[in-house]
Amino acid sequence: MSDLERAEPYGVLLYYKYASVPDLDELVSFYERSCNSLGLLGRVRLAAHGVNVTVGGKLSALEEHIDVVKSNALFEGTDFKLASCDQPLNDKVAKECGFTSLSIRVVEELVTFSSHPLVRSPDISFAGRHLSALEFHSVLQSAGKLLDEGSPTSSERLVLLDARNLYETRIGKFHTPGLETLDPQIRQYSDLHDWIDDNSERLQGKCILMYCTGGIRCEMASAYIKGKGSGFENVYQLYGGIQRYLEQFPDGGFFKGKNFVFDHRISVGSSNANVISTCLLCSCPFDDYSTRCRCASCRMLVLVCDSCRQVEGSIYTCELCQKHSKCGLSTPATENCKSEVLPREIKLSTLSSERQEKITGFGASRKLRILCLHGFRQNASSFKGRTASLAKKLRNIAELVFVDAPHELCFIFQPPVIDGHSELSTEHRGPPPKEKCKKKFAWLVPPDFTAGSEADWKEADGPFDPLQYQQQTGGFDSSLAYLKSMYLQEGPFDGILGFSQGAAMAALVCAHKDKLKGEMNFRFAILCSGFTLNLAEFEHGSINCPSLHIFGRDHGRDRQIPNKASADLSEYFENGSRVVIQHDSGHIIPTRSPYIDEIKNFLQQFL
Ligand SMILES: [Zn+2]
Ligand SMILES: [Zn+2]
Repeated sequence: MSDLERAEPYGVLLYYKYASVPDLDELVSFYERSCNSLGLLGRVRLAAHGVNVTVGGKLSALEEHIDVVKSNALFEGTDFKLASCDQPLNDKVAKECGFTSLSIRVVEELVTFSSHPLVRSPDISFAGRHLSALEFHSVLQSAGKLLDEGSPTSSERLVLLDARNLYETRIGKFHTPGLETLDPQIRQYSDLHDWIDDNSERLQGKCILMYCTGGIRCEMASAYIKGKGSGFENVYQLYGGIQRYLEQFPDGGFFKGKNFVFDHRISVGSSNANVISTCLLCSCPFDDYSTRCRCASCRMLVLVCDSCRQVEGSIYTCELCQKHSKCGLSTPATENCKSEVLPREIKLSTLSSERQEKITGFGASRKLRILCLHGFRQNASSFKGRTASLAKKLRNIAELVFVDAPHELCFIFQPPVIDGHSELSTEHRGPPPKEKCKKKFAWLVPPDFTAGSEADWKEADGPFDPLQYQQQTGGFDSSLAYLKSMYLQEGPFDGILGFSQGAAMAALVCAHKDKLKGEMNFRFAILCSGFTLNLAEFEHGSINCPSLHIFGRDHGRDRQIPNKASADLSEYFENGSRVVIQHDSGHIIPTRSPYIDEIKNFLQQFL
């Protein structure tokens, strides 16, 4: 980088938008094109219901990006928060914040409202009323005044609710004299709904003013509160979050301390921000997270001052873990990731009503039922999310049924590529408590994979080994036994679809078709970004099952699985009934035309 480039003003851009995305693949390519051509780094999270973006780059490039995004009708009314700042200097912080690379991912939810599978995310169209920074300020101001005048009590009915995590509220929060700010003291956003449930009496009948960093967390949480019905009608949220408020009130207004942010700036203070937090160990005033000290038990960020950090071998325990151990509760995490080799109890992500429909649906216009196998270190629910657009486009002809693989993997943390969300991603840097952990599974595992061998949390330093997929050669027998019992319980299925390692597994199932007769019978297979594993005993053209192969064209189009590996897998299937689709979309299943039409054409023959 030349000095001239270095001197160009740098900035950070944040925005989110809830909107129904008609074509996710198209949006993925749009962001790939725009961010790459403008040299933007950071996190882009895309879902069927919107986008959440935190990127950094040259100010001029960010402005250009905003212009392009604005020209898309989907983004009408989006609040773009652009701030100029220094370039990331601390590599460790920049890396942890995901600002050393560009990560564009399709996720199920922009923010994880709950990790509990039965808690549905609230409908954000019921979100609380937006208050501009000025309106929010004047409500707080009049609440304070009413109190001064000794007047009864609309202020008694007012509560301020901070929707952020404990490590954020430690260093800054709203404070209005005489008005209580409720701080849920949660480790992560997905714990907030539990807090709301437990504290609904404190909220009922009140006028609730909510705020968070940029606003996205309040959208969902306010909708959740309002969904509680009578007594929960008056919910308001600070539009644009603390960020917009501090722009409007550069001296901080009613916000005391610093605003924690999820990029390399770490925190942003007003012109006269006080230090409102203290060192965990010596209680001296301290609010600098740049050293990234974490609780040894739950991995939440903690504040440890410079001199306390000099003490070697210190283990830090956050206030929440301290409180838990005092209560005699065990601290969360650590004992979590027991690997399992034996088939687990089968759990389908389809609901019983869908099963009902399936049984009654075997009529004249029945749909194809397709069993879908996720990739390595994924799960049924994440795969269902990634293929939502496919399911939607095939909804008249096929029903996709998702299932977790039987081998449970240890959770590996790899900061830059974590399933995160712009505003919230650093909270997942450390292992979340066990019950909050979204389990990850595999169909095939290393031959030496044994239960308990990966009992601890791991943090990956570098990117995953690109050839790792070739080393997972074990575990087929138990995965096959598992699929058989699943088929018995939930079948029959017309076809099997596999993605990446799921495709390697599906191909193996097809290869053993004759042996499985009577137990499992698939009329076709769809293999996406597949590769061969354990097919040495078979010959090219020997697998007698109609097959559709979908994978990245040319070298490097799919950065996970090389084109050659997927092409090689297709060779094992009978030539006459084999269809190959090569695309430019990377390591995904493309659903834009012409690919979707080719997929439909393939499926038509089985209807
Ligand atoms: Zn200290
Ligand atoms: Zn802790």
